[in-house]
Amino acid sequence: MTRGLSMPGGRSLLVVLLACAAPALGQYDYHRPVEAAPSEEDIGGGYVTPAVQRPPPRAQWREAADVAVLAAALSLGAWLVLKRRSRNGLVALTIGCLAYFGFYRQGCVCPIGAIQNVTVALVDPHYAVSYFVVAIFFLPLLFAVLFGRAFCGGVCPLGAIQELVVLRPLQVPRRVDKGLGWLRWVYLALAIWFAALPAVSRDFVICRFDPFVGFFRFAGPLHMHLIGGGLLVLGLFVGRPYCRYVCPYGALLSLLSRISWRAVSVTPDKELDCGLCAEGCPYGAIEGLRAVRSSCVSCARCFDYCPRHRVHSPERSAASKVS
Ligand code: SF4
Ligand code: SF4
Repeated sequence: MTRGLSMPGGRSLLVVLLACAAPALGQYDYHRPVEAAPSEEDIGGGYVTPAVQRPPPRAQWREAADVAVLAAALSLGAWLVLKRRSRNGLVALTIGCLAYFGFYRQGCVCPIGAIQNVTVALVDPHYAVSYFVVAIFFLPLLFAVLFGRAFCGGVCPLGAIQELVVLRPLQVPRRVDKGLGWLRWVYLALAIWFAALPAVSRDFVICRFDPFVGFFRFAGPLHMHLIGGGLLVLGLFVGRPYCRYVCPYGALLSLLSRISWRAVSVTPDKELDCGLCAEGCPYGAIEGLRAVRSSCVSCARCFDYCPRHRVHSPERSAASKVS
């Protein structure tokens, strides 16, 4: 069984608690965008105005703060995984980012969805994309070139919600895993194609079919909640199914992480080469006792599984001194 927080049930409970706290944490003040629209009284006949949902524009300093938080979280994630090799530290970061980017920002600091904004900006001269969206799109890609998938490891809320529910992961046969991985590229191509259509028929399919954003907002169509719930149930036994087989941004990150300057490595001089790490990786990212950059999501579980790290980890040393 994979380690992370000491109790898998505790992780799931935490996700549920965060979900329950979301309405209190949520910062959007949704309101009707068209104040001059006919009122219920004008229309009559028992008409009830539907709750139109559109967030008001966000102050620039808040958008800049989001970019700063994203950059800080990416840096911290890369440091925790590559330098400290600390699974516990990364789990704490994951929970913090799920709370901030997921439930507080309601899934709307989103490099995954920004694929579409950047696409439209490239094909439509009338479409303006803010510098903040551009920064949010490129920052995780830049980090992937430098340090591997730091965004997936501890920052992305979609990855986090799946990471925290991994309970008893099965190893997907490698050929099936690789075959299904191509679906991400198909989805990426479709998303770009729909975003590049003329404005009247344009569609942001990544946002429309985001399986987890409904949980973060406590809103959305029932079928998307069912798909998201289904993926989380599947994720109990197949690690991060959305990340591995659907996410179009994950496809880009895995491509860039192949050439990353630094990445997760399982090395004979730092680890034991006993094979326990391969057993502990729920994502099939260790082949021949070495981490495969394109599949590795920088979750640091393999380090937690290594007997050598457990002996030498600062957290465990401190705990043993106390006891
Ligand atoms: S693969 Fe996609 S959904 Fe998964 S953690 Fe990475 S960016 Fe997020
Ligand atoms: S090799 Fe596997 S367990 Fe280790 S960091 Fe990568 S995905 Fe996580």
